[in-house]
Amino acid sequence: MAGTMLAAVKTKPQSGAVELLQVPTPAPKPHEVLVRVKIASICGTDVHIYDWDEWAQARIRPPLIQGHEFAGEVVELGKEASLVNVGDYVSAEGHIACNTCYQCRTGNAHVCRNVQIIGVDRDGAFAEYVTLPEENLVVNPANLPLEMATIQDPFGNAVQTVFSADVPGNYVAIFGLGPIGLMTVALCRAVAAGKIFAIGHRNEYRLKMAEKLGADYVLRSDAGLPEAIDRETEGRGVDHVLEMSGSPEAFNLGLKIVRPAGGVHVLGIYPEPFSVDVSSDIVTKGVSVHGIHGRLMYETWYRMAGLLTSGRLDLAPIITHRFAFKDFPEAMEVMKSGRAGKVVLYMEEGA
Ligand SMILES: [Zn+2]
Ligand SMILES: [Zn+2]
Repeated sequence: MAGTMLAAVKTKPQSGAVELLQVPTPAPKPHEVLVRVKIASICGTDVHIYDWDEWAQARIRPPLIQGHEFAGEVVELGKEASLVNVGDYVSAEGHIACNTCYQCRTGNAHVCRNVQIIGVDRDGAFAEYVTLPEENLVVNPANLPLEMATIQDPFGNAVQTVFSADVPGNYVAIFGLGPIGLMTVALCRAVAAGKIFAIGHRNEYRLKMAEKLGADYVLRSDAGLPEAIDRETEGRGVDHVLEMSGSPEAFNLGLKIVRPAGGVHVLGIYPEPFSVDVSSDIVTKGVSVHGIHGRLMYETWYRMAGLLTSGRLDLAPIITHRFAFKDFPEAMEVMKSGRAGKVVLYMEEGA
């Protein structure tokens, strides 16, 4: 499909510097497909790139089209591509695994050593079209609403974290109430956690959302947290901590409130190394610490489709803001304000 398309391009290695430009529509390589993007959503990662923080400076090489959360329609197949059809309603696993390293060959492609991420290491979905290896595409159930299809990348993080723990009937503390933390609250409710403690910091907007999504207790990390957990768990502590904040203080607090032989499941990414009392808080308590990265390929995706179409989990309240793609700068400002759940972009005029 020759011609040009509208794209949000990070043009320079500096804060901001995202311009809406007409750029050449990419052509799919032999085992790739071209997808017309219908909806995309903004992730914390996109904010890091926008703000040009240290992580972005080390990883991103402009010019780059950002965006890895989307849903759309297959419009063109590469010469050798045969796994999907033109017209398929798709989303995609944004981590492109190499398929040849030890991890990939032993069922752990989600921690591939040579991973490439769309919208990070190659052009992404904040554009009218995006190309992807055909095997990364996931055909969505026809009855999955667009706004649910686009949030599967972050929801997959929540799913992998929740199912790495033993949640039903148990006490669970969720640190970090960004969109993934909020989805996690709703998911823990859907799978019948015993008690759900949602722990935020100072963002009242998101503390309120956590309550709406079904947390039994909404607590602040800076206000007598260990005492409150002690009281509400009859002195037992929580069975599982799901750490999604990326705050060193939250990680250490999680180790304090988890019961001996409990689990701490960590999705958060921390700005720098920090110290932990390993002997007292992990070893002699017999605590398991489990890192979570990406989504299992592709077990998490199949499970997500089941959850999202089950009628037993309502993530609709997570989507709080909708913008036309041309209003991308405004959408980014809302996302950066923290007074938002998930912010979605509709790519077509009048959609
Ligand atoms: Zn994301
Ligand atoms: Zn690999």
